[in-house]
Amino acid sequence: MSATTHPRIAVISLGGTIASTSAADEAGVAPSLDAGDLLTGVAGVGELADVTAVALQRVASSDLTISDALNLAREIEAQLVDGAVGVVVTQGTDTMEEMAFALDLLVAGDAPVVVTGAMRNATEAGADGPANLLDAVRVAISPAARGLGTLVVMNGEIHAARFVRKSHATSTAAFHSPSVGPLGWISEGRVRLALSVTPWPRVLGTMTASADIALIAASLGDDLRLVGQVVSLEYRGVVVDALGGGLVPSASVEALEALSATVPVVLASRAGAGDALRQTYRFAGSEIDVLSRGPISAGALDARKARVLLSLLVGSGASVEDCRRAFAVVNEAMFRE
Ligand code: ASP
Repeated sequence: MSATTHPRIAVISLGGTIASTSAADEAGVAPSLDAGDLLTGVAGVGELADVTAVALQRVASSDLTISDALNLAREIEAQLVDGAVGVVVTQGTDTMEEMAFALDLLVAGDAPVVVTGAMRNATEAGADGPANLLDAVRVAISPAARGLGTLVVMNGEIHAARFVRKSHATSTAAFHSPSVGPLGWISEGRVRLALSVTPWPRVLGTMTASADIALIAASLGDDLRLVGQVVSLEYRGVVVDALGGGLVPSASVEALEALSATVPVVLASRAGAGDALRQTYRFAGSEIDVLSRGPISAGALDARKARVLLSLLVGSGASVEDCRRAFAVVNEAMFRE
């Protein structure tokens, strides 16, 4: 009888709650486990896949950067070239939506890249890390998950990186895709993918470096004077998390216009789902007013995802007009005509 061969995948660990444990005599937990340790705690993985464990970082996700995403994308591509059919990334949940979106933009090809983590650490009752990791492995080896870009698997659900958000501070059901819902779920170990997303068009080009981009939130009565500090603080662009469908206080429009002559300024909706508006309101600070002064619409990307895209574009040498085109291309690719 010949031995069964399993698909090969890589599990790459970055840290976060899923990797956190407590040290004797000290309060709190901190990242201390790596991919090999995490896999040891998950019964059944060896019956599904031949897993290569890669310990890449061991940090809280508040210490991850877009530059780390570029390194991680290179490691993922190396694993795929080496024969992995898919890759699982374990990391902290706090910046998971941004890291997953960066990987979605950076990793070429059809192989599933699945990001997962935990809301409850290993010392807590009901720790969710092992179940999330096992689900992520199932998705990474699933032929149905090919061509869907980077996915986030948490709490038994499969989310597209381009739509998912962390929307609860502690619940194990913290991840949602408010605009569209999950693409599918895992039931009795079966990967159930009901929906799909389209691959990003090649025209986005190769993004090889990141740039510092500020994210400024609009809020009741703030004139956004921080916008005037963006260049002196050496940011190379800014995303404004604008009110409602993409509106800002009228007192801020001249500063936004002046800044957008120098660096890309992107206007996103802070509402949490749907598209930023383009042609509804016409008054000082409305989206028609602001977009006519130079800023770029983030469209259906939320501010955090828009910042990741802008960082990779500017870091890779894109001009303001290149960025405008790229945001339009990404938004077209997110929807069927
Ligand atoms: N609370 C976080 C987590 O869920 C910590 C982090 O993001 O690293 O992993």
